[in-house]
Amino acid sequence: MASKKSDRDTITRRDYLNSTLVASGSVLLGAAGPMQLLAREEWNGYGGVGDYSSSNGNTWEVMSDGHKIRDHVFEPLPADITDTNETFDCVVVGGGISGLSAGLFYSRKTNGKKSCLILENHAIFGGEARRNEFEVGGERVMAHQGSAMYFPCLPGTFLSEFYRSIYIRNEDFQYQEWTGKQPEIPVGLTPYFGGGPASAFFFGPKFQKPEGMLLKDPWSRNLEGVPISATMREEWLRVRQPAAADTPVAKEHGDAGSRYMDSVTLEEYLMRAHGVSRETVRTFLSPVAGGGSGLGADALSAYAEFAADVLLPWDYSKQAQMFPGGNAGVARHIVKAMLPGVLPGEASMTGIAAAKVNFQALDRVRQPVRIRLRSTVVSVRHEGEPERAEAVKIVYLRNGKLYSVRARSVVVAGGSWTAKHIVKDLPSDQAAAYALFHRAPCLMANVALKNWRFLYKLGISEFQWFEGIGNYTAIRRLAKLDGIAPGISPDSPVVLTFKILFSSPGLPLEQQVIKGRTELYSTPFRVYEKRLRDQQTMMFGAHGFDARRDIAAIILNRWGHAYLAPQPGFFFGNEKHSAPGDFLRSHPYGRIAFANSDLAGIMDHRMSIMEADRATDQVIGRG
Ligand SMILES: Cc1cc2nc3c(=O)[nH]c(=O)nc-3n(C[C@H](O)[C@H](O)[C@H](O)COP(=O)(O)OP(=O)(O)OC[C@H]3O[C@@H](n4cnc5c(N)ncnc54)[C@H](O)[C@@H]3O)c2cc1C
Repeated sequence: MASKKSDRDTITRRDYLNSTLVASGSVLLGAAGPMQLLAREEWNGYGGVGDYSSSNGNTWEVMSDGHKIRDHVFEPLPADITDTNETFDCVVVGGGISGLSAGLFYSRKTNGKKSCLILENHAIFGGEARRNEFEVGGERVMAHQGSAMYFPCLPGTFLSEFYRSIYIRNEDFQYQEWTGKQPEIPVGLTPYFGGGPASAFFFGPKFQKPEGMLLKDPWSRNLEGVPISATMREEWLRVRQPAAADTPVAKEHGDAGSRYMDSVTLEEYLMRAHGVSRETVRTFLSPVAGGGSGLGADALSAYAEFAADVLLPWDYSKQAQMFPGGNAGVARHIVKAMLPGVLPGEASMTGIAAAKVNFQALDRVRQPVRIRLRSTVVSVRHEGEPERAEAVKIVYLRNGKLYSVRARSVVVAGGSWTAKHIVKDLPSDQAAAYALFHRAPCLMANVALKNWRFLYKLGISEFQWFEGIGNYTAIRRLAKLDGIAPGISPDSPVVLTFKILFSSPGLPLEQQVIKGRTELYSTPFRVYEKRLRDQQTMMFGAHGFDARRDIAAIILNRWGHAYLAPQPGFFFGNEKHSAPGDFLRSHPYGRIAFANSDLAGIMDHRMSIMEADRATDQVIGRG
């Protein structure tokens, strides 16, 4: 099988998630905000087919219920709450990878003898790790809604044991082969821009190319022909060279290099490390550099870009892998290991990917872990003084009605943006720590094409651009799991994923995320649909692309609080505060502990798992 990345042997997570360019290393929206004007149909749009079809991104229903928490609608709690009369040993808030892992760890660590309930607000489990499914011309194609890449672990690590225990084996990732009569061109395994003979940059009106200009294999040509000044071109090329020798580099978490990186923005770091101008960073690097943390380089701690590779080295020789629906695959594997009947069939990668979800089996009495969907937790409070209370009362909203359950312990794994509102007796130090978490929005748009002949004719399978909506996308080979066609050719249906970030370089980070969310929440489906069609027409209209003919469907996944966007000081603290994630990890209180990947400052599903392991130890240890 040809792989465009075969010539690179040390591709890190950062390369995939953020930037292959960097080689070296309100005001809250008010109640009368514009998003209130967006009706459900203008928000959700088409959701695809299959079990995930009513759960694309944060749906209008989930967003509306979530904002009732923010707007204090349930403070004080009304009297008409239905008590389910249930008491669990543990309640987990959030059914993303962290919450699901917490359920599995809790059950395993207590030998299935204690009870656990996971409350999740979406219509299906997985959190940011869910998938979109399309049926195009009789073929099933899939794409990730958020979380994409799976990183094969180093043997003997905690994670490698964990993955094995949930039936994930690296050797089971086998990808679609090239079929059809046409000669093969390189097609990668990921939606990210890797560079190579089948890659291209597009330059349009912003670069005085109103007719559009495609530059193939730009890196091998050393950017020759790029319509920018010679100075800028030299700078851009320099970013691919090793950092200047006197630039501190992080080798270990907590060393001088990592602490330096956390004291400056990624923009400042790139300027120093590569001697480039702010303009070059903002025009060509942002927000792809920093994209793994959801904002541009100007706002983020430089360490955000490097922390995952420092903390979580993986087996780079095995390349990053991808389930057809991204890390929805990981979430499904956790569920299979925890509640086998939910995904009936074989406990293998192919069986788990193809199984139809048996929703009835999620929440049955007498099973050690239960998952209750469409349930938004609005209040978590100890019954009395936290350090002496015997239980915690949890109130959740489901189909417009409030219910309550009791628990002997709680793992709050839903993420900072709701944790800070729902935990009602949160001590002031924990509240101050959560106030330092800022989550950036993201729109993941999946565009299903009936075929990609227009790209094939150009000899390209991946491309990047620097104006308009989105930044890059790529045709990719899907893992050949049950239900996925074994082959790919220019005539095959494919999904192009457009990751759309909302960075406003120059504004303070807090304002950037609010501005971005306002735009995400107030832009109707049809407007985004038109912008996506226009973008592709601008880039490929002259090369045979016809939006009306070639696009089969578009799904929008709106993530209001997609990425933890760590500001300088997030990882190691500064003169004003200590590291907020570390504080929350080491300060559970009463019967409540905290999980979710955002505590690590790194948006990575491996962190979700590890945070869950720690949090379940804490609540079990509390007794
Ligand atoms: C666009 C994007 C791309 C990414 N790509 C990758 C990647 O390629 N590889 C990788 O390893 N990682 C990636 N990540 C990061 C990683 O996958 C996520 O950090 C991880 O899946 C998060 O899992 P979690 O359980 O910690 O949080 P979440 O997935 O956010 O799960 C929390 C769940 O709790 C729910 N919830 C919140 N509050 C409440 C409440 N009050 N009541 C009930 N439910 C609640 C949320 O809606 C959500 O469903 C990506 C993240 C994003 C956003």
